[in-house]
Amino acid sequence: MSFSGKNVLVTGAAGGVGTVVVERFRAQGARVVVADRDVSGIEAEAHLPGDLLDQAYTDGLATAARDALGGLDILVNNAGVITRGPVTDASDADWSLSMGVNVEAPFRLCRAAIPLMAADGGGAVVNVSSCWGGKAPGPNHALYTMTKAALASLTQCMGMDHAPQGVRVNAVCPNEVNTPMLRSGFAQRGFDPDTAVAELGATVPLGRIAEPGDIADVVLFLASDSARYMCGALVEVNGGKAVA
Ligand code: NAD
Repeated sequence: MSFSGKNVLVTGAAGGVGTVVVERFRAQGARVVVADRDVSGIEAEAHLPGDLLDQAYTDGLATAARDALGGLDILVNNAGVITRGPVTDASDADWSLSMGVNVEAPFRLCRAAIPLMAADGGGAVVNVSSCWGGKAPGPNHALYTMTKAALASLTQCMGMDHAPQGVRVNAVCPNEVNTPMLRSGFAQRGFDPDTAVAELGATVPLGRIAEPGDIADVVLFLASDSARYMCGALVEVNGGKAVA
């Protein structure tokens, strides 16, 4: 897969999956704009730090990326937050945070980026949803799962609506990935993250949970010309472990 000459915007670029997505796009020749709250120390062609809950920042991000690189071909909506527990434990702040980062930000970014891509001959959007919500209910994470279902539905709708403009919109739906998001959850609940990751890996038919590169490679595939006939797809990446 060559991304030579392609201009890419990646959100959540400082996170577990985002870091590897950025590295792999750049390794394949892409020029990458990194977006996250803190992007210092990340090697990239342009840095646009900010908070995706800030509507003005998020509304302006696609245009700022286009201006920084001279074009925008690929958008990866990777940033995400996880709120744990059932609905009865969820606060108003949990609701606003989950909806703001996981649903509203991708909506605002797609709304701004798709016309730019269409005007320039087309492009690709890859959303990072989850098996939880994107494919099936997830236990004890009601708000998180709901937001990932919303993102999956947006992906399917946008995949249909914007294919005629040459903009392909697809999503990757990972099961558990060995990143700070997962490990911090174990630590908060008093488990040793390494032990917990190993035990969780034993429940996966492939024998381990995903590493960020396992997800990044599918993101790159969906963004590439190899996926040229895919629009609105929800691609499960689960090592054989379906969400029951
Ligand atoms: P991570 O926590 O390592 O990275 C998430 C990144 O999003 C962080 O760098 C964070 O700073 C950024 N972010 C969060 N809120 C933001 C805000 N308001 N403004 C700007 N940036 C913000 O998590 P990860 O595991 O790498 O997650 C990447 C994506 O994969 C997420 O969408 C997540 O929901 C999804 N996912 C993760 C798993 C998993 O098990 N780790 C499973 C399925 C899906």
